[in-house]
Amino acid sequence: MLRIGLLGGMSWESTAEYYRLINEMARDRLGGLHSADCLLRSVDFAPIEELQAKGQWEEAGAALAAAAVELERGGAKLLVLCTNTMHKVAPAIERAVSIPFINVIDETARAVTATGTTTVGLLGTAFTMEQDFYRDGLAAHGLEMLTPNPEDRAIVHRVIYEELCLGVISVDSRKEYQRIIAGLASRGAEGVILGCTEIELLISQTDADIALYPTTSIHAQAAVDAALAG
Ligand code: GLU
Repeated sequence: MLRIGLLGGMSWESTAEYYRLINEMARDRLGGLHSADCLLRSVDFAPIEELQAKGQWEEAGAALAAAAVELERGGAKLLVLCTNTMHKVAPAIERAVSIPFINVIDETARAVTATGTTTVGLLGTAFTMEQDFYRDGLAAHGLEMLTPNPEDRAIVHRVIYEELCLGVISVDSRKEYQRIIAGLASRGAEGVILGCTEIELLISQTDADIALYPTTSIHAQAAVDAALAG
């Protein structure tokens, strides 16, 4: 099993979920007392969030690239960036290390296209929903991406930063997300990507009538598969 390097803390609420999932998946695949061989580099999210809000992506990319180098020096053989949003700076991170980078957009796109879906909704931070990197990443796999209307995008974004990243799970917010998912379905989405690593702490498949693609679970599974493939 290869050592998985987790670059997390964005937020730690979802990084804890990655840690739990990759260990459960390793145990299920290998049995007995097996668990994942992994290293976690968890950053302080506050300064990263400040850089996001100011649009200082280059600085954020440099900080995360430096943290990724620390993981590689620590013996990580695979790199997992535990946030969709910061995949905006994936190229800077990938340039800094020589170990393979398991890209959440590519892994999610593969999970979506495997079902024959061609039009998919996306929920995530405003950065993920509104900037080009996620749309382009999905388009490279032949997928068309739909996002909620501006008011609903603002709700999705606010719930992520003001609730989920702080460990707050609200029944009212779950209802809002359910309404927004139904709206995407009515506009032609065949499924919806939970494109922020905290969203699956709030919403699961039983909360929706169409297929959901939970990126934390998909990404964790891809990491374990790659680690075990050697
Ligand atoms: N974890 C989130 C994501 O997957 C949002 C926090 C962040 O901005 O990194 O996009």
